[in-house]
Amino acid sequence: MSLAQGRHYLAIPGPSVVPDRVLAAMHRPAPNIYTGELLELTHSLFPDLRQLAGTRHEPVIYIANGHGAWEAALANTLSRGDRVLVVGTGRFAAGWGQIATGMGVEVETLEFGLRAAADPQALTEALAADRDHAIRAVLVVQVDTASGVRNDIRALRRAMDEAEHPALLMVDCIASMGVERFEMDAWGVDVAVTGSQKGLMLPPGLGFVFYNERADRARDRANCVTAYWDWRARTNPEIYYQYFCGTPPTHMLFGLRESLDMIAEEGLQNVWTRHQILAHAVWEACEAWGSEGPMEFNIADRARRSHAVTSMRLTAPHGTELREWLTANAGVTLGIGIGMVAPEDPEWHRFFRIGHMGHVNAHMVLGTLASIDAGLKALSLPHGPGALEAAARVVAQV
Ligand SMILES: *Cc1c(COP(=O)(O)O)cnc(C)c1O
Repeated sequence: MSLAQGRHYLAIPGPSVVPDRVLAAMHRPAPNIYTGELLELTHSLFPDLRQLAGTRHEPVIYIANGHGAWEAALANTLSRGDRVLVVGTGRFAAGWGQIATGMGVEVETLEFGLRAAADPQALTEALAADRDHAIRAVLVVQVDTASGVRNDIRALRRAMDEAEHPALLMVDCIASMGVERFEMDAWGVDVAVTGSQKGLMLPPGLGFVFYNERADRARDRANCVTAYWDWRARTNPEIYYQYFCGTPPTHMLFGLRESLDMIAEEGLQNVWTRHQILAHAVWEACEAWGSEGPMEFNIADRARRSHAVTSMRLTAPHGTELREWLTANAGVTLGIGIGMVAPEDPEWHRFFRIGHMGHVNAHMVLGTLASIDAGLKALSLPHGPGALEAAARVVAQV
């Protein structure tokens, strides 16, 4: 017997749920790519993308996943042999650093481990120690989707200013844009990158890079840049073809128009608040479960937890057992514990993550939590009482 029939819910931290409205907008014949509707639609996207990122600067859209956006940001600002400082707060910061290493850039890491946010004071000290300003850029992830941490980007900018260091601040917002508050210009971010498949509620396939004038000045001397990734050629080009260095991502653009409309209709502030409240509901439930038995948060400090994803620890192999039970019996799939330990390590089976980003509402989150509660009971995993009441109270207080 299984109760998994019905609409399956992929509650992993990306790709996130694609709204029916977005799917419907994409379900159409191929458009002409030389004239007409698609061209106008493309031009309409840029003001909305700027608003999403809190910037007056130009966004560039690549046909790429997040890794492509990472590479684009580095290629346009760095030369082989340049040095960057990676703010190490999990797998994704490390991954961005690996892309840089592969491009011939020297990577230094200021490590904070897998269970804490970056300490601004330590960043100030690391930059102050770089007296001849060899570090060209600081790479930081706003939300590390593996550990579930949220870094304080404003505080990290202030830390750089305190050290009077001229490095660019480059921020990975792949898990957080359209989920968490982010204000590129007000916070002094030079380059921000994101992707389509998380807060933007689209399938994977679009990578976005936002850059300011300081970053564009770095582009003058960057020898890592190649024709395809060159953001200048793609910014306000005379010829439509150059926006995408070739055929545009036709159906993704129709989907993006729809998802940006959905965000505008709800209001970006409301989108951020919705994610915050739903995250609080998840945390209240997890705290109740953890009040007895082994369940614990990967990030103990509430103030530094992301509103996009919650990373939890059980005892091995119960994280994996719980995930498998939910998929088989409740029609909900939770995230695996990537980047914490190697997949061949038995401890890998401790972890699970609850994605709560993008097209999520109260019943999806409460249903997921109730399904986890059922799974804990079905598997006789020790847990504290009152989780669902606690989550419902958060939702009821709206
Ligand atoms: C998902 C994610 C990435 C990687 O994106 P891909 O589309 O898988 O290349 C990078 N950084 C963060 C923070 C992410 O959440």
